[in-house]
Amino acid sequence: MAEAGLGETVSELQEAYESGRTRSVAWRQAQLRGLLRLLKENEEEAFQALHEDLGKHHAEAYRDEVGLLVKSTNAALRELGNWMAPEKVWVPLIAFPASAQIVPEPLGVVLIFSCWNFPLGLSLEPLIGAIAAGNAVALKPSELSPCTAKFLGDNIGRYMDATAVKVVQGGSDVGELLMEHRWDKVLFTGSPRVARVVMSAASRHLTPVALELGGKCPCIFDSARDLQIAVNRIIGAKWSSCAGQACIAIDYVLVEERFVPILIKVLKSTLKRFFSDADHMARIVNARHFERLSNLLKDTSVAASVIHGGSMDAKNLHIEPTILLNPPLDSAIMTEEIFGPLLPIITVKKIEDSIAFVKARPKPLAIYAFTGNAVLRRRIVEETSSGSVTFNDAVVQYAIDALPFGGVGQSGFGQYHGKYSFEMFSHKKAVMKRGYLIELKLRYPPWDESKVALMRHLYRFNYFGFVLSFLGLRR
Ligand code: NAD
Repeated sequence: MAEAGLGETVSELQEAYESGRTRSVAWRQAQLRGLLRLLKENEEEAFQALHEDLGKHHAEAYRDEVGLLVKSTNAALRELGNWMAPEKVWVPLIAFPASAQIVPEPLGVVLIFSCWNFPLGLSLEPLIGAIAAGNAVALKPSELSPCTAKFLGDNIGRYMDATAVKVVQGGSDVGELLMEHRWDKVLFTGSPRVARVVMSAASRHLTPVALELGGKCPCIFDSARDLQIAVNRIIGAKWSSCAGQACIAIDYVLVEERFVPILIKVLKSTLKRFFSDADHMARIVNARHFERLSNLLKDTSVAASVIHGGSMDAKNLHIEPTILLNPPLDSAIMTEEIFGPLLPIITVKKIEDSIAFVKARPKPLAIYAFTGNAVLRRRIVEETSSGSVTFNDAVVQYAIDALPFGGVGQSGFGQYHGKYSFEMFSHKKAVMKRGYLIELKLRYPPWDESKVALMRHLYRFNYFGFVLSFLGLRR
């Protein structure tokens, strides 16, 4: 899209927001209902687009994208009233009589950049929050998933307010042009490299940015009450989530040496059962990523560590589920985010050593641990830092609306999902109303020590407002 067209798009969005209509509950509900209808009436087309872009089976597409979005949209419709309601807060005695509340207000016109691996989910999940919060929205899907980008471009305007919610298709050039405009917030999902470009462009307009990035998510495998269930879940979180091309996919497993033979045996037998039909695993998004992943295995010491799989089908962009045992820790496969169906297993002497291993590396988006050991669980939560920690499963935390989703440190900042999506795109406005009944002279000069002494007393009863409310003396 040329700059002139983009300028028009941005102006239309601004006009729509300034008209005030996006603020009403009715408008927000209508958009959310429109989104539900879009998903329901075009489910087959969505499956088709996701299959063409990534070879996703429609069951996987429903589980990870369409179904999750229906759940999130319904939840937003159900909770919208609560999210929008002003929140009353206590006022300290020093300000008595007064009332105070936090009133959420939309930010204005916001921009969402999404990524190609869950091209529907990562576009629409933040969109739900942005419209629930009453914003006008520009959505920029990834050019690497063109069918889904087209699906969004063709349908959003048919089901939602087309002047207030717009899809802008294109590549990095369009992304850069978009960032020349002033936005009230940008949510970016993608790589740290592009995140730096986006953040630096946003700084020109002092636009707040939220970054949803990735990294290497470790899985600490201690023991499992039911090994088969644990292995099902590990495979689900590695190979069955877009063939490992997921920001919260398990990147590598840490395990004590004594558990390696049984873990590998059950992994192999389960992989055979799950993927006897190659169509039940997504493909690699494109030839560039296929080559990147092939290169990770090229190093001779890495190639020597492959104990399962490793075959590559460049024509169909398929990589067999591949397991590596102890590849060198300084090799690219152990220093870069894998983002594909290769799983290194790293042995540690004692499982507790995995805490130091994880801490010595950048803060992950997610840490997983399969363990029945409560002390280890507590130590992982208390001693490591990550966007999330999930015990005895992986990836499912993404589906839990009540949990904030987002990174920390190198894995990003800003959290969304459920109410956190609404908050991501809202400003919490502080609103206070005072009465004229009491006027404390001690607030004003001329100063003397008795005023200081009185202030000391009043500040000590900072939350005396609670008592007043309890006695019905405060509204
Ligand atoms: P990317 O960073 O290349 O692209 C992301 C988006 O930015 C796309 O819409 C793209 O068109 C746009 N873009 C590209 N260049 C741009 C530029 N110069 N200016 C403005 N916009 C530009 O995507 P990628 O490298 O394929 O993403 C993979 C990374 O994303 C992985 O690290 C993964 O972990 C991370 N990721 C994170 C999440 C999450 O929710 N935290 C989800 C999916 C992927």
